[in-house]
Amino acid sequence: MMDVVIRNGRVVTPGGVFEGDVGIVEERIAALGEGLRGNAEIDATGCYVLPGAIDPHVHLQMWAGDYRSSDDFASGTIAAACGGTTTVIDFVEPADAEPLLSALAARRAEADGRVAIDYGLHMTIDAWHAARPEELASLPEVVAVGVPSFKIYQAYGRLRLDDVLLHRALRAVALVGALPIVHSENGPLCEELRAEALAHGHIDPCYHALTRPARQEAEAVNRVIDIAALAESPLYIVHVSCADAVARVESARKRGEPVYGETCPQYLTLTADALDGPHGERFICAPPLRSHADQGALWAALAGGALDVLATDHCPFTADEKAGHLDFTTIPGGLPSVEARLSLAYTLGVRAGKLSLERRVEVCCTAPARIFGLARKGHIAPGFDADLVVFDPEAEVLLSADVLHEQVDWTPYEGTSLSGWPRHVFSRGRPIVRDGDYVGQPGWGRFVFRERR
Ligand code: MN
Repeated sequence: MMDVVIRNGRVVTPGGVFEGDVGIVEERIAALGEGLRGNAEIDATGCYVLPGAIDPHVHLQMWAGDYRSSDDFASGTIAAACGGTTTVIDFVEPADAEPLLSALAARRAEADGRVAIDYGLHMTIDAWHAARPEELASLPEVVAVGVPSFKIYQAYGRLRLDDVLLHRALRAVALVGALPIVHSENGPLCEELRAEALAHGHIDPCYHALTRPARQEAEAVNRVIDIAALAESPLYIVHVSCADAVARVESARKRGEPVYGETCPQYLTLTADALDGPHGERFICAPPLRSHADQGALWAALAGGALDVLATDHCPFTADEKAGHLDFTTIPGGLPSVEARLSLAYTLGVRAGKLSLERRVEVCCTAPARIFGLARKGHIAPGFDADLVVFDPEAEVLLSADVLHEQVDWTPYEGTSLSGWPRHVFSRGRPIVRDGDYVGQPGWGRFVFRERR
């Protein structure tokens, strides 16, 4: 006798689709099969049963200059849950001279007791820390408390590592068996192009994209791939946005190098044309939105395996915070999409014939769990956490800020109609979304100790 049985769903894993029941005992999946009996039974006829999705790239209540991303750990994880995401991985950003472990404790204090779903953290290695051998020597202590992934930037002021620091940091991360995850853009070159644009009076949002062209991203991707090879480090490139960068990742993989790539819904669904629209300023994010041709390359890479993960880089700022700037360079960058990711991937990916059912589960659930060391998540099999989504492929949702739970007054997907939305969501066996309504409790989520094998 199970505690809960999800009956007659079409269970999707990267290995295939089968019709049957999923049995839950306490917090874990206990059995798969037919005719399972439980104290509670949920009819999933006509629905897909998916592993809870994992979003390994979110920025909740994150300071960006004078602005703080508008979703906090409660609102952002409730929105994630409503969209079928049951684990997020956010970031620790230590200040200069702040020990990594102190920064980690401070970030955990912000999240613990407030998160609606389980969460993990990546540690950021900025230039101050990368330049100090005694700081890099503390990486094993960070890994020992369940943080085996380190964010590294090739752009952005104090966060940016030059090639020497990049090499040192990658070597240190590799030495402790952890994974570096890299924001790959050529920062100094983008700064030069921005200054040049401003000098010519080019202040409109479209210049954000024009001053961060695809080839500078590809150049940075290629460079970090080579430096990672020299440092004998694996590598995960976040938010790959363009065909040129995909090509660099693909050739590294063909050489057999352990390079992973991620893209995000915004790069698959929007183009730089949005920057010329009535609220162009809202669409500023980095890397910037690209072209239709780039979208095609990204879908193909996601489907074909040249890219591994679909994450969001969820980082919302309100319409007011985005508006009224003298030029494009001071607009806080980032877009919301933590809630709609899984459904966007279904309607615009699976239904449009660009992604198989299995591949969608792989890139949204299973691959992020495997790559980031979430040993009991991202898969439907006995022993795994009962993080499950009953996904109704016929549910029609017209996206707008009003229907989403994200704490932001606009969405880049305003007016997009989706066919398919989560009906029920379970987190460690407990229903947190029922019939589309959030029924969980902030604080239910826990910090997940991650371990890379
Ligand atoms: Mn990011």
